[in-house]
Amino acid sequence: MASLLVTNIGELVTNSLAYGPTPLGIIRDAAILIDNDVVSWVGSAFDAQRLAADEKIDVDGAAVIPGFVDSHAHLVFAGDRSGEFEARMSGNNYSAGGIRSTVAATRSASDDELRSNLQRLMEEANSSGTTTIECKSGYGLTVEDEARSLRIASEFTTETSYLGAHVVPSEFDDRKDDYVSLVTGAMLDACAPYSRWIDVFCDRGAFDPNSTRKVLKAGIAKGLLPRLHANQLKQGEGIQIAVEFDAASADHCTHLTQSDVDALASSDTVATFLPAAEFSTRSQYPNARKLIDAGSTVAIATDCNPGSSYTTNMPFCIALAVREMQMSPAEALAAATLGGASALRRNDIGHLAPNARADFILLNAPSYLHLAYRPGVNLINRVFRAKGKS
Ligand SMILES: [Zn+2]
Repeated sequence: MASLLVTNIGELVTNSLAYGPTPLGIIRDAAILIDNDVVSWVGSAFDAQRLAADEKIDVDGAAVIPGFVDSHAHLVFAGDRSGEFEARMSGNNYSAGGIRSTVAATRSASDDELRSNLQRLMEEANSSGTTTIECKSGYGLTVEDEARSLRIASEFTTETSYLGAHVVPSEFDDRKDDYVSLVTGAMLDACAPYSRWIDVFCDRGAFDPNSTRKVLKAGIAKGLLPRLHANQLKQGEGIQIAVEFDAASADHCTHLTQSDVDALASSDTVATFLPAAEFSTRSQYPNARKLIDAGSTVAIATDCNPGSSYTTNMPFCIALAVREMQMSPAEALAAATLGGASALRRNDIGHLAPNARADFILLNAPSYLHLAYRPGVNLINRVFRAKGKS
């Protein structure tokens, strides 16, 4: 259909200051006009009466919000780690090493198995309102398995991240430097054609600052853009490295010093929170208030992966951020939409104003507030998503 007018919207979240106060730019009694999968107009339902469209939908006072932008997910894998979750919930601690069991399952899976698991997760995410989702490699950890993970991911999304530096695979035990050489050499060569981003898990049990810098440098030299897993498990140099490399995003940000907070606030690096990971590992939540009050741009993402955060559900992450991270409901929604877009350095998504992609959600609720106010309830009435990969 060429054009679509959605009208009688009780509350339209535009995320654009042109239409209302920060952070959400809300228009009440609103309408939105879509032309060829692009937003062409937003305004009041009254003014919309004069607009022509091929199709009109009256939503009877319901809320409309931008589609969620999930800027951090690990979706190419095989296997199940519910047993590890059970053990953790019975008192064991989370460490980065559990990734290795998914590596073994992923290596022995066929392309079709990986593709159909990815497709199922993508559909699951879309049905809960996610319209753009970033997807990392990191469970292959051989030249061939990393390249095929990214090749398969790139069939579904433009936001692909090469994460060969996820964990050192067991065959490189005691030869960590050799593995870093592989990640920055032949593996990078094979993966770069399918990747937009270079990512490193810089943390305890994963990669140290020196190796992290090497991997980011090599990726950037190949034309990839940097982003980083930083300070999930302990304080360290991760945040400083992210800022030093002008990474689009530093993800997790759970254990920060005051100088980390200051560095993020005075940089273009988005601080991305992954509260479902803290939930699923029963860990301390990051201090969102500190970063927001310091002036940092923040995002919320799922970190969907089979070990430490097996959810694709952004409304769940919003509810957690509000309840556990002292974010206001408006801040959390902005972080899950416009914040995610910033974390991917995209200006065509995460907001609803002319020229944006027509990615939006009709809620079964009169207000976005219900996303946190009614946790665990499916409030997604319909997801509108522009054609083509995002
Ligand atoms: Zn992650």
